[in-house]
Amino acid sequence: MNIALIAHDKKKDDLIEFVIAYLPIFKEHTLFATGTTGLRVAEATGLDVHRFQSGPLGGDQQIGAMIAQNKLDLVIFFRDPLTAQPHEPDVSALLRLSDVYMVPLATNMGTAEVLLRGLSEDYLDWRELKRATGGEAE
Ligand code: PGA
Repeated sequence: MNIALIAHDKKKDDLIEFVIAYLPIFKEHTLFATGTTGLRVAEATGLDVHRFQSGPLGGDQQIGAMIAQNKLDLVIFFRDPLTAQPHEPDVSALLRLSDVYMVPLATNMGTAEVLLRGLSEDYLDWRELKRATGGEAE
C-alpha cells in the first residue's frame, strides 16, 4: 500500500514516535511524505521515504495530486490544531480529496493507531480494488 505521512511542526516528534512504534508495519509499505516530515522520518527510522516539497511550498498539494490519481491508500496527517498555518487552503484541499477518493485519513494518533492495526490485519485490502477500478466514491 502507498502511505502518505505529513506532520505540522509541533506534531513531527509525535509522528516519528508513532512510526517507530509501528515500524514493522511501515516497513511493509511504500512511504511518501512532505519534505521536512519525510526527512525527519527517514533520519529517525532509516526507512525509505519518497519526499515531496515542504508543505507550505506545495507538498500537501503534491500529495493531493497523488490522491486524485488514485495512487494513495492511506494518509496519516498529524495536524496542529492550535497553530494557524499559512497553507491552510492546501490542507483543506487535501482533506477534501481524501473524502472524494475514499482514502482513509488520520489526523491524530488515536485514529492513526486504529488504521495501522487495520492495515496489519488486511482490513484495508479493499483499497487495492478501489485503486484498480478508478477510485472515486460515486
Ligand atoms: P513539512 O510540511 O513536512 O515540509 O514540514 C508539512 C506541512 O506543514 O504541511
